[in-house]
Amino acid sequence: MIIWGSYVTKKIIQKGEFFCPGCAQHRQYNLRRPKKWGHLYWIPLIPMQELDRYVQCTACDKAWNESVLEHDPIREQHQRDENLATMLAQLMLLMSGEGGLTPKLNDQITEATQRLIGVDATPESIAKAVMSGSDRNSALSNTARQADGLNDRGKEATLRAVIAIAPARPLGEREWMLASDIGKHLGMSPAHVGGVLSEMAAA
Ligand SMILES: [Zn+2]
Repeated sequence: MIIWGSYVTKKIIQKGEFFCPGCAQHRQYNLRRPKKWGHLYWIPLIPMQELDRYVQCTACDKAWNESVLEHDPIREQHQRDENLATMLAQLMLLMSGEGGLTPKLNDQITEATQRLIGVDATPESIAKAVMSGSDRNSALSNTARQADGLNDRGKEATLRAVIAIAPARPLGEREWMLASDIGKHLGMSPAHVGGVLSEMAAA
């Protein structure tokens, strides 16, 4: 009797770390390529069919479509936090009217970043953030890009933190105009910006 049939091999073609949706955390994975073989007495003879590659979590053993490797909510959140921290640092430097980062200003930005975004900024990360665009136009256009990631409360808290760094009270004309512009780029309504300004300008 001739024993003829087929079976599937699942060769590992890549290993690495990914965000496993099943475990909801970073895990090791194996990317496998299943291949169907025709065999005679279990000796593989003919590769019959290549099946869809899949990613398997080494912790929970669940299998996922390969596109799972492109999504990492932890890394994406980290990137969003970093972008917001950069925005805040640029706006605070702008509002301070200082030509560059002073140690005191760096401390203030570090503290505000921790309080508002919950990110542990370092003097080095603040310096890097403001280097990436501290002129008025690039800081404002970056603000408009990041504003989608903030709710109304986050926008107001950002504006308040920036106004708080202004060098004098009552606010000078430059600071008033800048604060209005920042509020606009954050997507706040004129009434909302006006409310925050009239409360903080004199205080
Ligand atoms: Zn898993």
